Amino acid sequence: MKAKKNKRERSPQMQQVSAGLRDVLGITQWRKEHPHATWAEIEAEVDEQMNQLRAQLIQDVVQMGETEDWSQKPPEERPRCTTCGKPLWARGEQTRFLQTTGGEAVKLTRSYGTCPQCGRGFFPPG
Ligand SMILES: [Zn+2]
Repeated sequence: MKAKKNKRERSPQMQQVSAGLRDVLGITQWRKEHPHATWAEIEAEVDEQMNQLRAQLIQDVVQMGETEDWSQKPPEERPRCTTCGKPLWARGEQTRFLQTTGGEAVKLTRSYGTCPQCGRGFFPPG
């Protein structure tokens, strides 16, 4: 437990979200089953559940910028090769998994393209 590091008041919305999350993340139930849990145990449980939520949030926010499917667009509107400037050919979607600092996997799906001239492969940004 860190003492008085940050005494900033949290907003009423934050308190409401916290109350809802306790139920959604199963922490309300966990607390009932662990009435004598220590500070460290409570913190570890909340961290573990929040890491999952954090991974979901990151995944959602990242995908917000990548909703555009450029494979159906005319060549002049497609992303271009960074080497020779030719419009890329769409090669379908590829899924990658990244690891968050909380140790959770985040799934990212992006359209993959190759350059018809020099053959380079790209994951163009949304
Ligand atoms: Zn190229």
